[in-house]
Amino acid sequence: MERILGKIEGEQPGPLVVCVAALHGNEQIGLHAFRNVHSSIINHEIPFKGTLVGIVGNIKAVQCNQRFLDYDLNRAFTEENIRRVNEKQTMDEAEDEELAAIYDIIIRESSNGNYSEKVIADLHATSADKGNFVIVPEGEMNYPLIKSLHLPVVVEMDKYLRGTLASYFQDKGFTAFAFEGGAIGTGSEYQLHTSGLWEILDKVGCISHHDHENEDHYVQQLQSVSQKLPQTVKALYCHKVKTEDQFRMLPGFHNFQKVTKGQHIAMDKDGPIHAPMAGLIFMPLYQRTGEDGFFIVEEVPEFSIISNGRVY
Ligand SMILES: [Zn+2]
Repeated sequence: MERILGKIEGEQPGPLVVCVAALHGNEQIGLHAFRNVHSSIINHEIPFKGTLVGIVGNIKAVQCNQRFLDYDLNRAFTEENIRRVNEKQTMDEAEDEELAAIYDIIIRESSNGNYSEKVIADLHATSADKGNFVIVPEGEMNYPLIKSLHLPVVVEMDKYLRGTLASYFQDKGFTAFAFEGGAIGTGSEYQLHTSGLWEILDKVGCISHHDHENEDHYVQQLQSVSQKLPQTVKALYCHKVKTEDQFRMLPGFHNFQKVTKGQHIAMDKDGPIHAPMAGLIFMPLYQRTGEDGFFIVEEVPEFSIISNGRVY
């Protein structure tokens, strides 16, 4: 499997848009969504400004249809880890090589051109229902781009998740975010990622909406899945788990479902786990691998989100 899913270099200057798919190997629909958008642009000869690059995240895990083999790549993007894999002659763990390759491509692509803006969309899917949202690192510079996706925006996750790809590259000057397209295997991720990618390319100026069909359809689709979901939430709490905890969520929880303080929501080897506070349940873990059992988030008014010194 090739690391590069596809690339378009426009004749005119513009932004760099890097699309990472299947950073978690069992979340593969992003690969198809990228290929679909990429081939539509080429087949319909849509005029393109700037550069678009699609990258496969965790090739080895994709081949095994697993989230990861030795460690979670989306918790591994720290300076310390990058230095470790770049200096090493031999790669001990399965993800070492993947981490080094992704880092290398993104840095190489971004230093190649004089881009008006650099964007990374990291495509994921969740194990629980109503999993369509955008996770934005703290101080995200380009909130209007995020808003164009019309999906719930989740902030302050960086307090609980160390080493995400989006946070790492945001520190290097990218507008970077995780784009969760829906629950794994439902098919909705494909539609949402496809619609979202068109919206991103339109918003940053790679394409003009006059040049591709279905613009209104994409916007409507993004809006319709987000109806009755909060617009902006911030993370309040994360329940970390280890394999030996034998953690399991009680069935039936979906993203943004209300929970009350003290509500029984999960089990582990020591017995019942109760919500430590009232709020909305977020990313409840319904797969075997993962370090985060569940999050609790709360809805915040949009005007309280301050980005780059500006209040949006
Ligand atoms: Zn993921």
